[in-house]
Amino acid sequence: MTVSVRFAPSPTGVLHVGSVRTALFNWLFARHNNGKFLLRIEDTDKLRSTDENTRLIFETLNWLNIDWDEGHVIQSMNIERHKRAALELVEKGSAYRCYCTPEELFTKKEQALKEGVSYKYDKKCRDSQTEVADRPYAIRLKSEVAWKTTVDDMVQGEVTVENSQLDDLVLLRSDGTPTYMLSVVVDDHDMGITHVIRGDDHLTNTFRQIQIYKAFGWKIPVFGHIPLIYGPDGAKLSKRHGAASAQDYMKLGYLPEAISNYLLRLGWSHGDDEIITRTQAVEWFDFDSVGKSPARFDMAKLDNLNAHYMKERDNESLLNSLIPFMQCDVSQLETARILMGMDSLKQRAKTLVDLANAAQIYVSAPVEFEETCRKYATEKHLCLLKEVIEIIENQTEIKEKELCDKITNFAKEKGEKLVEIAQAIRGALVGKLVSPSVFEIIEIIGKDDTVARLNKYINYFSA
Ligand code: GLU
Ligand code: ZN
Repeated sequence: MTVSVRFAPSPTGVLHVGSVRTALFNWLFARHNNGKFLLRIEDTDKLRSTDENTRLIFETLNWLNIDWDEGHVIQSMNIERHKRAALELVEKGSAYRCYCTPEELFTKKEQALKEGVSYKYDKKCRDSQTEVADRPYAIRLKSEVAWKTTVDDMVQGEVTVENSQLDDLVLLRSDGTPTYMLSVVVDDHDMGITHVIRGDDHLTNTFRQIQIYKAFGWKIPVFGHIPLIYGPDGAKLSKRHGAASAQDYMKLGYLPEAISNYLLRLGWSHGDDEIITRTQAVEWFDFDSVGKSPARFDMAKLDNLNAHYMKERDNESLLNSLIPFMQCDVSQLETARILMGMDSLKQRAKTLVDLANAAQIYVSAPVEFEETCRKYATEKHLCLLKEVIEIIENQTEIKEKELCDKITNFAKEKGEKLVEIAQAIRGALVGKLVSPSVFEIIEIIGKDDTVARLNKYINYFSA
């Protein structure tokens, strides 16, 4: 049997990282088993679905390098098929027309509420076979009354409900629109889905969906319900925790490979391995190692992974990811400088936002100097810097190593520690006291720019 799985997001909101993880687990399961990973956009809620959200789904999956097989399915295109399927069930006697009016049902719900019992449709229309002309009706499933439904879930293990708890759920509403329960089952069947892998908030739906499969006489897929993602406080991860959607993390400057590695480890493990490449993930992924309990999102861990993957990236490709994060347009010359400095820049940054801030040194002179610079801006320091300017101006070509030797000797001559001079230079070049090697920066930005920045510093602090 070829494994066929699907990711079925609804474009009714932004894509939550929990959904991204669902997509990833489905994809890994498919690729591990040489199966198919299909994409279905569940856009039947026309009021809340937007094209923009659909676009974001494609964008996010592309960003994460999660590719799908065959063209994607748009659920709303299958509505006629869903309606016909509901009528087939009526003909088979597995579903029935319910003529109860919304008012009638509402009154019964109110009554149940008053009596403090949970409302369930009373199955009034279940046994009447007569079709009433010109009266709107819903179609309800004749659910099994006796016995139990058990799911052998790939993650949750065996879960059982008493069928008596299940309602005669609506398959087709009286306005002619199919319900989610019906659409999802018909589409999964038509798409040949063998394994339904999704968030465990869908577990209760599964029992209802199994009844629909049975009513059609279709093969029931294997289910796997993965736990949701929680914030550090134990509540479901939401925007309130700072970031919850894939877009949020994209904007915060995380690399797709870090997000992907992080989400994989959140809920799945392979020994103590933390850094797991895509290739390894495809090779190792299975449901035996997916945990049952909800995972807590840990920003610090994500930061560490991101820092790791930034160092791993080749500089050209990191530069491409970095450019959109720069505060202003970057010229070709500036881009070339950033690339030259990238090896050092990427050692220090946790996110692309950090990296963009650090890379700013190759785009413009500091606009202001941090207060800490003052310590290296005394009269003594400013005098030393004036001599440093001379040394620099006397170079025909500036090379990091040579310049470092020159300034080191100069410090010795002056009976000063190198750090005193280097920190003053650093303050002048970047406006603060942390940066890559000042000699490297000087080599990259060149003589003129260096001298201009040193002069600016001297003027600023002499005033
Ligand atoms: N469209 C549903 C959702 O976004 C998922 C349906 C499913 O996976 O069965 O929650
Ligand atoms: Zn009824």
